[in-house]
Amino acid sequence: MQHSRKLFERALAVIPGGVNSPVRAFGAVGGQPPFIAEAHGARLRDVDGTDYIDYVCSWGAVILGHAAPTVVQAVQAAAARGLSYGAPTGAEVELAETLCRLVPGMAQVRLVNSGTEATMSAIRLARAATGRKLLVKFAGCYHGHADSLLVNAGSGALTFGVPSSPGVPPELAALTLSAPYNDLAAVEALFAQRGADIAAVIVEPVAGNMGCVLPQPGFLQGLRRACDAHGALLIFDEVMTGFRVALGGAQARFGVTADLVTLGKVIGGGLPVGAYGGRADLMAQMAPAGPVYQAGTLSGNPLATAAGLATLALVQQPGFYERLEATAAALTAGLQAAADAAGVPFSTVHVGGMFGFFLRDTAPRDLAEAQQADVARFGRLFRALLGEGLNFAPSAFEAGFVTAAHDAATIEATIARARRAFAAA
Ligand code: PMP
Repeated sequence: MQHSRKLFERALAVIPGGVNSPVRAFGAVGGQPPFIAEAHGARLRDVDGTDYIDYVCSWGAVILGHAAPTVVQAVQAAAARGLSYGAPTGAEVELAETLCRLVPGMAQVRLVNSGTEATMSAIRLARAATGRKLLVKFAGCYHGHADSLLVNAGSGALTFGVPSSPGVPPELAALTLSAPYNDLAAVEALFAQRGADIAAVIVEPVAGNMGCVLPQPGFLQGLRRACDAHGALLIFDEVMTGFRVALGGAQARFGVTADLVTLGKVIGGGLPVGAYGGRADLMAQMAPAGPVYQAGTLSGNPLATAAGLATLALVQQPGFYERLEATAAALTAGLQAAADAAGVPFSTVHVGGMFGFFLRDTAPRDLAEAQQADVARFGRLFRALLGEGLNFAPSAFEAGFVTAAHDAATIEATIARARRAFAAA
């Protein structure tokens, strides 16, 4: 840890908390983050030469494994042709066509640079299209750090105890209503009280920012019905679940079509990218086709689109998601067996290439249950796992991810190491 420690000291002097995104900090689990030198396949190597099997995978962005050869080659070839033009390219069209073909209900799509930009833009469009101001979100869901969405948020905001951030004007925060995840009655009550003012309901169709919390049967369908009954739009934030829980994302997996969908992570193959899209009549309202403004100097960047296209080419191969899901199933079953052997209360969930584990007997259904996590014990377990060379998210309130590079031997090695970690923690 010597080199990581020195880098962290330097980082602390010039970067708030030493990290460029709070979720990378170890404040909730103790210790300091290893600084990464390189990564290949399922493995990270830190600057001290220590290897880790990685289950963070750039928070889900990496789905083929680190430095996947076809993605790296596509990016290198694109880089040699220029890094950014600020003018349209063929690759952008191809990526947009691919997204519109594969994502249900996506008639048109706009590329942006992050998930935050995607959700921020989608809610602006929803407000413009409906002429209404209010949003409904769910406690523990994270939709990026735009002002309107940092209300009862998950992920780092939850981990570090600031779910509703200072700096968001209370007048603006008051326009965001929140309900417990999986609680359809609470949503219906909000619509009953303020339905005529609600522009949209935004939801992570599988929540991945309070741990991994599955939608209960009927929850997403119920949101669709409630939105339709009250003239509100349904926004699926698929930044995490898009091309992660199925080729067509959560919409395909659960059979519910949203009005607008946001994407990020996987569609950039590890480069900065986001996207929002959906119904043709809505997307036609975006500038320059319509009056709702949103723009970006680097949007549709040639390197990001090259990485995205190379990634999406491989995930479309037959059996890709079946294999990914089998990997996640084998991993979570192995972790469960390791916990059982050590007598640790434990539960897991997995869907497609994402998973969660919890230090409790049943998987949580909402934030209140997720917050019953034994955070101190999670910290001990996290440190023991890391000591065994297993990199999981340094928080009880994050999902985990597997990639196509997590082969059977990798999972087997993980489980053997996890058995030792559970016994120690
Ligand atoms: N929405 C969801 C569901 C996310 O998980 C995230 C990031 N983890 C975001 C939005 C924000 O994306 P970004 O970090 O790229 O801004």
